[in-house]
Amino acid sequence: MSPRSRTTSAANFFSVVCLSTALIVCALLAAFTRPSGPAILRIVGPSMAPTLLGKHAELVCPRCGFDFVVDAEETAVPELVACPNCGRAYLRADEVQTHDGDRVTIDSTPFLRHGVRRFDVVAFNVPEGSGQLAVKRVIGLPGEQVAISHGELFIDGRLLVKNVRQQAELELLVHDAAFRQAPAWHPAQQDSAWKTSDEREPWLFAAARGEDSAHVDWLEFHPAGLNFPGDARPPAPRTLLDNDAYNPALARELNPVFDSTLNLTATVSPESVVAIRGHDGNQAWQLLLERTSRATLLRDGEPVVAASLTNTNNPLRIRFAIIDGRIRITVNHQQLFDESAASPAQRRAASPIPWAIGVRQGAVRIEQLTVTRDVFYLDPSGLARPWVAERPLAAGEYFLLGDNPPVSTDSRHFGSVRRVQLRGVIQKLPTR
Ligand SMILES: [Zn+2]
Repeated sequence: MSPRSRTTSAANFFSVVCLSTALIVCALLAAFTRPSGPAILRIVGPSMAPTLLGKHAELVCPRCGFDFVVDAEETAVPELVACPNCGRAYLRADEVQTHDGDRVTIDSTPFLRHGVRRFDVVAFNVPEGSGQLAVKRVIGLPGEQVAISHGELFIDGRLLVKNVRQQAELELLVHDAAFRQAPAWHPAQQDSAWKTSDEREPWLFAAARGEDSAHVDWLEFHPAGLNFPGDARPPAPRTLLDNDAYNPALARELNPVFDSTLNLTATVSPESVVAIRGHDGNQAWQLLLERTSRATLLRDGEPVVAASLTNTNNPLRIRFAIIDGRIRITVNHQQLFDESAASPAQRRAASPIPWAIGVRQGAVRIEQLTVTRDVFYLDPSGLARPWVAERPLAAGEYFLLGDNPPVSTDSRHFGSVRRVQLRGVIQKLPTR
């Protein structure tokens, strides 16, 4: 057993055992204060982060001001931490304030209404445990065989494609441009018209391009590399990686990530032509928006499909996702495109410029600019190797995974969970 896997096992032993302890303590309190109400449980352990947090600490990056949460349960928060938003490594302040885990209840009625559904977050009695409870997400249903490859989930050999709601529920924030000192967006050319405003708002395209319809002025996203104070050179270009800010004490090899989403708000002038570019590991995809009315999707520069915007509200809220082998684009909540992109096996290399925003003519102001990524699933040892469950799930068996794959102990390790072990769907209570 490698030192890394030993650490992981230890961490998850605690996440399972402590949850049951929390159950006992909180059930007693609930019984005392509200005899007829449901038991309120507290999450312990990092295996479902960031969906559900165990005991955690909140840190603030001294460079970009980004605040983020880290696990504070099994291991002390390391003294040297790195900001997930801008990559700055720094010595944290001596005192970190820790917060208790999220409060939840268990609701068994969804199972009665519609059975157990994929992507439900459920509480269950741990296999071979003495009534201990744990929380994971349902991935495989009876009769299915689960596999993990290229960071993706496969069911019976087919890539599991999340719907829009499931995608939004699982996405992880990679970059938020509102934190102005995070220099992740760079004009591609020296005489670019892209300018930052002096306020907190991220990017303002101040100078209009003329009627030049051939040239696109690009603003590129360069994912943050690790960066120490006093570094003379900017970090080398790199691709998006499956860095998990929540696990600062875990040393592991990071993997290139292909599934990410660009979110932004664009206020555009009437004559504008705006382009947004992403890369699926094989081909470049470009959304061309003309005069807030017409949208065209291009693959490697060739038009694939076009659509008209039904809601031409300006500013435009744009969401461009490359996820689960699909290209999904919504503008003002209208789904414009849902096209097949490169499959995991067709991907060659992740681009060091995963996203770019361009203006061909007119003026545009970009705000609320974020990049998120999909969960990157790993094999039971925490590596990006292909892995297949030993056998298909039998009748009444389910395959459960944590949302934090590098540290979660789940069906990859203890196998399937039977229906009788499932207690109900987790309902998160507001923080107080
Ligand atoms: Zn930062």
